[in-house]
Amino acid sequence: MIPKPNTAKDKASRRYNRRMERDMCRKVVLEREGYRCRACALYGGTALDVHEIVPRSQGGSPFDPINCVALCRRCHRAVTIHDLTINERDASSALTFTTRDGETFSGKGSVDA
Ligand SMILES: [Zn+2]
Repeated sequence: MIPKPNTAKDKASRRYNRRMERDMCRKVVLEREGYRCRACALYGGTALDVHEIVPRSQGGSPFDPINCVALCRRCHRAVTIHDLTINERDASSALTFTTRDGETFSGKGSVDA
């Protein structure tokens, strides 16, 4: 098979497709979680962040709802700076969170306490 020429139009088209895929994943994730933060259960509507449990740099897919979880801004920040750890890798099942102190995060109280 002859490879297609790599034109600017092809690149734009691939970028568009990736965005559509990501938007679709985001929609699936937010609906699955009832538009609530998976860590603290705060209702965030469409303002919630969608976090990749396994980052792209480690082979995780940003388009796979199993790898993505809805988090409020505050919990997302806590996960990003490792104040909060997601213990499982499959977001389609139950997830548990552990604080930096090794305690189970129940969603009550402060993340950075
Ligand atoms: Zn939260």
